[in-house]
Amino acid sequence: MYPFAFAKATDTREALDAGRGGGRYIAGGTTLVDLMRETVERPETLIDISGLPLRGVTVTERGGLRIGALVRMAEAAAHPKVRSLFPVISEALELSASAQLRNMATIGGNIMQRTRCSYFRDVTADCNKREPGSGCAALEGHNRTHAILGTSDACVATHPSDVAVAFAALEANVHLLGPAGERRVPFADFLLRPGSTPNREQALRKGELITAVEIPALPRPLKSGYLKVRDRQSYEFALTSAAVALHVRRGVIQTAKVAAGGVGTVPWKLPVVEQHLVGERPSDALWSSAAAHAANGARPLAHNRFKTELLKRTVERQLRIVGGTK
Ligand code: SF4
Repeated sequence: MYPFAFAKATDTREALDAGRGGGRYIAGGTTLVDLMRETVERPETLIDISGLPLRGVTVTERGGLRIGALVRMAEAAAHPKVRSLFPVISEALELSASAQLRNMATIGGNIMQRTRCSYFRDVTADCNKREPGSGCAALEGHNRTHAILGTSDACVATHPSDVAVAFAALEANVHLLGPAGERRVPFADFLLRPGSTPNREQALRKGELITAVEIPALPRPLKSGYLKVRDRQSYEFALTSAAVALHVRRGVIQTAKVAAGGVGTVPWKLPVVEQHLVGERPSDALWSSAAAHAANGARPLAHNRFKTELLKRTVERQLRIVGGTK
């Protein structure tokens, strides 16, 4: 570790003032402290925001859900409204990390977490995300767990969050508060693809705080769920995953929300799969033909070619789990 300053914000204004001065916000600290120990990140000032009033889970007027940024992962997963309205969120959270980490880590911190690319965490390796312009050791290195979608010549790292995949599928919005006031950013625009600047990962302006994630109302009844495929059944990141939500009325799919994880540089929304489903009657043949589009545009690397087929099978299986076998 190295010397750094630490301040505890007692209210939002105090936090924003400190954030404007260049400090880094910290709540659960489950990612940032790790990275500071490894000197991958070296913030000069930490601002503890864990005491701010950003903890509630509320049902919005139209029947959506607002989850405060400081709600712990375990709390959100167990919340009766999250479980009943959007089980896909609960399932994604419960399949993440360990029980100890879920008790500490917050929803805001979860979507801000940084990649698990081993070269990013090895300060002796070339990594454009950690040190812009240094190169990408993963391109020619060990890249079995890396992304096949949304990659660039500068970075091929996956986004590690599970619940972010559910938020992407459900088209959530991220609520932000900064020196210039409040704003709301669609989830699809919040996390950034690497392009030529993989070090810039979120559409946050200087000093902005995440205050909540809001999931819009969807037609009911809605069935949803999350499937995660990984090398071991616990405490492991996804090789592939699928978040699916379906609204079926009079035997026809009216609404389909689908996204994939473990395969993209950001949680990967699957609009072509969704379009293929809407207006159709659930059937095994439909799940299969829709999932065939899940890896459209994939650019596999030397060690992760298996992900293309695995992704299609993961999406097909989760469509069948949520939509039923017909
Ligand atoms: Fe760094 Fe991204 Fe390359 Fe990993 S994939 S080494 S995070 S630039």
